Amino acid sequence: MEKLNIKNMTATELSLVLREMNEKHHRTRQIMQWLYQKGATSFSSMSNLSIPLRGRLSEMFRITSLDVVRSVASNEDKSQKFLLSTDDGLLIESVIMEAQGHYTICISSQIGCPLGCAFCSTGSGGFERDLRADEILNQILYFRTNHIPAGQRFNIVFMGMGDPFLNIENVSRALAVVNDIDAFALREKRVTVSTAGFPGRIDAISSSPLKFSLAVSVNATTEKIRSELMPGAGGLHETVAAAERFARARKSRTTLEYVLIEDVNDSPEDAARLSAMTAGKPFKINLIPFNEWEGCPFRRPSEKRLEEFIRILLPKAPAVTVRRSQGNDISAACGQLRMRERP
Ligand code: SF4
Repeated sequence: MEKLNIKNMTATELSLVLREMNEKHHRTRQIMQWLYQKGATSFSSMSNLSIPLRGRLSEMFRITSLDVVRSVASNEDKSQKFLLSTDDGLLIESVIMEAQGHYTICISSQIGCPLGCAFCSTGSGGFERDLRADEILNQILYFRTNHIPAGQRFNIVFMGMGDPFLNIENVSRALAVVNDIDAFALREKRVTVSTAGFPGRIDAISSSPLKFSLAVSVNATTEKIRSELMPGAGGLHETVAAAERFARARKSRTTLEYVLIEDVNDSPEDAARLSAMTAGKPFKINLIPFNEWEGCPFRRPSEKRLEEFIRILLPKAPAVTVRRSQGNDISAACGQLRMRERP
């Protein structure tokens, strides 16, 4: 019999299997704590379980992990990018960033991405497959175990390769473990899921019990530019409307991400339209000056152009921040290290 992949299961699913094994309910909590809080890689190390139970668990389940293939550390800041290998030899890109003692882990939800956004290195590299829940969780575990001091809090952002909403079943399963008090115990303030925008899926997940903050990539103020930059995603206005419904349903704010690209979406008219589109709405706006990559046709706007954009945007738009990508010298934008490693 093929062993079950234990990290591919939520606590509820695990408890059902353990019940069939005639094990008590609290075993689920103990095993979740071993896997996600103590980083156990074998059942033999789970010392508060009886030795016969450890043997039965070893026969029933397998515990997966990811291997490091390559890493690149930035000379400019404390970001570090990793290529992690799956059990079928594919490469996942993940990044850890540290600023003033705050750690953020940027994880992938797919290998490659089928959306093909015009400005994105991952999109230009094609799509291989969805990640399983255990592969999503193992990215977090790798960094928590190897790169974050014990007891230190950290944030997770689903902003690596792929769109989480295209792999919603596995991402939802991983989020259930991320939220779980016996696993990572991370809630809205520490978990952000970023999507290119699929209105129906945003509406569907807004009523789920999963706890996370939503970020939506907007990147345009007209339907024409939106469809040119992000042909695989939902239309501009229907996506922004879904982002607003999510925020109202969750009594929160949705972050709208806006990658500023020279002479594409950085004009004063764009700033005025973005301001009008967001004024008085439950949004935060995150401006991201484009991070150029080898072979891309787009350019980063000048500082002067950026300042002008902000000046027009600021009076009416909700909270505006500018994210200056960390790790420019290691090509920190998603998909770029994997592209270099491919034959
Ligand atoms: S920007 Fe995101 S959704 Fe678009 S191609 Fe890149 S990874 Fe996919």
